[in-house]
Amino acid sequence: MSIIGCVADDVTGATDIASVLAAVGRSALVVFDVDRVDPDDLREADALVVALKSRTAPVADAVAASTAAIQWTRDQGASTFFFKYCSTFDSTPEGNIGPVIDALLPELGLDVALVAPAYPRNGRTVYQGRLFVGHVPLDESPMRHHPLTPMRDASLERLLRPQTRLGISSLFLDAVRSGGIADELAPAGEPRIVIADAIDDDDLVALARAAGEHVLLTGGAGLALGLGADGDDEATGGDPVVARPGERLILSGSASATTRRQVAHAREHLPTLKLDAARIADDPVAYAGEVFAWVTAQWDAAPGRAALVYATDSLTDLDAAPSAVSGDDVEWVLGLVAQHAAPRLGALIVAGGETSGRVVHDLGIASLRVGQVIAPGVVWTDALTAHGRMGLALKSGNFGADDMFTNAWELLA
Ligand code: ADP
Repeated sequence: MSIIGCVADDVTGATDIASVLAAVGRSALVVFDVDRVDPDDLREADALVVALKSRTAPVADAVAASTAAIQWTRDQGASTFFFKYCSTFDSTPEGNIGPVIDALLPELGLDVALVAPAYPRNGRTVYQGRLFVGHVPLDESPMRHHPLTPMRDASLERLLRPQTRLGISSLFLDAVRSGGIADELAPAGEPRIVIADAIDDDDLVALARAAGEHVLLTGGAGLALGLGADGDDEATGGDPVVARPGERLILSGSASATTRRQVAHAREHLPTLKLDAARIADDPVAYAGEVFAWVTAQWDAAPGRAALVYATDSLTDLDAAPSAVSGDDVEWVLGLVAQHAAPRLGALIVAGGETSGRVVHDLGIASLRVGQVIAPGVVWTDALTAHGRMGLALKSGNFGADDMFTNAWELLA
């Protein structure tokens, strides 16, 4: 059985690629702390995804963390390696995509880095070396105005050039579709980068399968579609996450349009509490205690029914927010509520990428064993906390169906 070693540049990116690996039959483990991974989980896994927070970190830090993480996966037996970043190629002229590739190739002794950020089911395609978001080039999408990584070009070669010391060539769609992938990726004496077109899932599957173990796979979660059970007869997928005894809670710090629809749906079916910005600003510790008291009252009234605590249900909340509390304050309160709740929890859903990172940290979770898929990019995972095991689903803002907060529980085995 081949083992896949992956380093992801943010937390929900890690669960996103882990969800694809699980969907194609892999037994995936998302790792936050390599020194505290549960040995039983590690033994069962055939895909190790180390979750970093390196996307906008200083270049040297991102390189050091990525190198250490990929080394760890190799020490665990990985022989196929993947560097996961966002399918909108989130980076600046300094990095961190190019510098991490430059460091990982010699570290792993590999010849070629395949750059394939396409994720067609999320509307990201690459054609003639240009990255598209839906129907528009990357630099005409909202990513043009991203506060941390504004994307002002759609040519992947021009975006990468200032970030890397390596030579760059292109693998255009006609070569991808005419069986030319292996030739284009063959070792050529010097380490190099090959940027690949892909406009549907079959293109990505062909790329991942034709790339040999001398190739470092890099891109969005879509490229992992080609790393599944079909390509490896022994891959069987992870065990489903079971419905453990205990209470159910949803903590939502995301303000995305999808999450706001999910909150609106949940308000019709579940007890819900909207965080009070003024109370957070006034006394966050006391307020987290009050929020938890509300949660326990709901649980005591109807054991087993989920309760929802959320930060935002309309964009005007955010307009009002800067004067009262910061996003960090909100995350801090939600993390504290999670800590209060942990001893009684059987299953927890967290909405929001940054919020998820905070809750995982505050619950002291070292790794997540990936189970059943809830929606593209969202999975039930099995998490070990100081209070035992529980089901945990981490949801990036824009993922999941509108009824996810009410219905995801039914998928627990
Ligand atoms: P997403 O995945 O949707 O981007 P994140 O958790 O990554 O969600 O980011 C949302 C950020 O917005 C978090 O820092 C959260 O605390 C903050 N936030 C959400 N609602 C509010 C609010 N009403 N006031 C202030 N900050 C908020």
